[in-house]
Amino acid sequence: MSFDYDLFVIGGGSGGVRAARMAAETGARVGLAEESRMGGTCVIRGCVPKKLMVYASGYPDQVAAAQAYGWDATLGDFDWTRFRGKLHAELDRLEAVYRKLLHGSKVEIHDARAVLEDPHTVRIGDDKTVTAKHILIATGGHPVRPDVTGAKWGLVSNDMFLLDRLPETLLIVGGGYIACEFACIMAGLGVKVTMYVRGAQILKGFDDEARGLLAEAMRHRGIDIHTGTSLTEMTREGDRPGGPVPSGSDAASGGVATMGLPAGERPVADDERPDAADASRRAGPIWTRATNGTSAVFDHVLFATGRAPNTDNLGLDDAGVTLGRHHEIVVDDYSQTNVPSVYAIGDVTDRVQLTPVAIREGMAFVETVFKGKPTAVDHELIASAVFTQPELGSIGETEEQVAARGEAAEIYATTFRPMQTAFIDGPGRVMMKLVVSAETRKVLGCHIVADHAGEMIQMAAIAIRMGATKEDFDRTCAVHPTMAEEMVTMRHPVRKT
Ligand code: FAD
Repeated sequence: MSFDYDLFVIGGGSGGVRAARMAAETGARVGLAEESRMGGTCVIRGCVPKKLMVYASGYPDQVAAAQAYGWDATLGDFDWTRFRGKLHAELDRLEAVYRKLLHGSKVEIHDARAVLEDPHTVRIGDDKTVTAKHILIATGGHPVRPDVTGAKWGLVSNDMFLLDRLPETLLIVGGGYIACEFACIMAGLGVKVTMYVRGAQILKGFDDEARGLLAEAMRHRGIDIHTGTSLTEMTREGDRPGGPVPSGSDAASGGVATMGLPAGERPVADDERPDAADASRRAGPIWTRATNGTSAVFDHVLFATGRAPNTDNLGLDDAGVTLGRHHEIVVDDYSQTNVPSVYAIGDVTDRVQLTPVAIREGMAFVETVFKGKPTAVDHELIASAVFTQPELGSIGETEEQVAARGEAAEIYATTFRPMQTAFIDGPGRVMMKLVVSAETRKVLGCHIVADHAGEMIQMAAIAIRMGATKEDFDRTCAVHPTMAEEMVTMRHPVRKT
């Protein structure tokens, strides 16, 4: 049977673009459909714009540090509009680079939504169908709002890059990495940030000591973290029964905003907003009530309450592709679905939701299908960073996970004030921690809370993936004076588990 393409990729994000390019470079005829902007979540509404905002939000600290070191430096006002213009110009540039790379590899681009019709047929837009020997689904995921009355008034992460202006007050619902990163970003930009975290601490799943230290640092930055707290209800302040809250009352403690819908404009329903361009329409004042009984008013509410795979209305039923409990596409170690011609990679499979993982899965798919070298992606020991201030870098198991498995471990940990903070007030404490197997002496986990922890954990990850033992760390001569030297100078365990 002859097909229009050897490979058709649905989704032009991190995983899809890499897989399409690499497959095309083997000589395969490749088509790719992207319904929004090339580059996907990472480039357009995730890692890249987020990190640029992290940089922007860090300058007040740098000016304060410069002052402490004797510089006559002053911090002026932050011009959000100017920054946003530069941010989007950079995203445009990156999107163009992605397109150029695809063109250069001779991938045919279709700027349209694509859905499956059967195991070898893809419908592009309304009226075009193509056939492909292999179909790769790389449609990513989307942020979800919780089932809370008035949730339509909340923003999601996509919206944060599109705000008309910065709010004065922001409630962030959620305690995961996206919530914490935006909390630090917005606090750094001068926004008064409150967080409602359902659990007992931020960053569930990360090392307990690390997240505790980070929460302390975030609170020191003025972020008002309420743990054990969920949002139960919200509405636009003017629509609330009983009308606006008198200023100065408890309920106004989040700060009453000056922004609102233009007179006569109605709220926008979720299904009316295909993208986040109307984020500012959701500007408050937004009245909220929480499980702890407090009600407060904020300019904006951001939901960072999880993401769901983009599998709705994708024709997966028609093609017979099996979905999992969370609507993710179920795949085997080689990213193959139950339908032999259909593969899936990246966030849509809900394995590990990180850009480098989606890229690796794309490359492994090409090795397997187009280079005849069956390659499974190893999802163990993936390092990651939370770009808060300070950052949290981590790889491997936490102390709690190792204890839960019942493996005897030695914990090496230290907290200290880095030299750079010698002249600066504030907690400024950093943490380095190694979780070491008592039996094999292998380093099972490494957790760092410090500025540039993301950079440090990348390096530590190489050693840990190679199976480094604590003694390998000890034999490594320190680089002095650095923060990271503590990683190779911790002589005695602080406890054994
Ligand atoms: P995506 O990059 O989401 O791409 C999927 C693409 O498919 C999208 O462009 C979408 O428009 C398109 N699409 C969907 N359906 C269709 C269809 N039917 N037809 C055509 N096109 C379609 N990861 C990190 O590693 N580090 C970070 O610091 C980091 N920060 C993040 C910050 C935020 C705020 C968010 C939201 C995510 C972050 N991530 C980070 C996660 C990372 O962005 C994702 O894991 C990664 O982008 C997943 O890649 P993907 O290829 O699976 O999907």
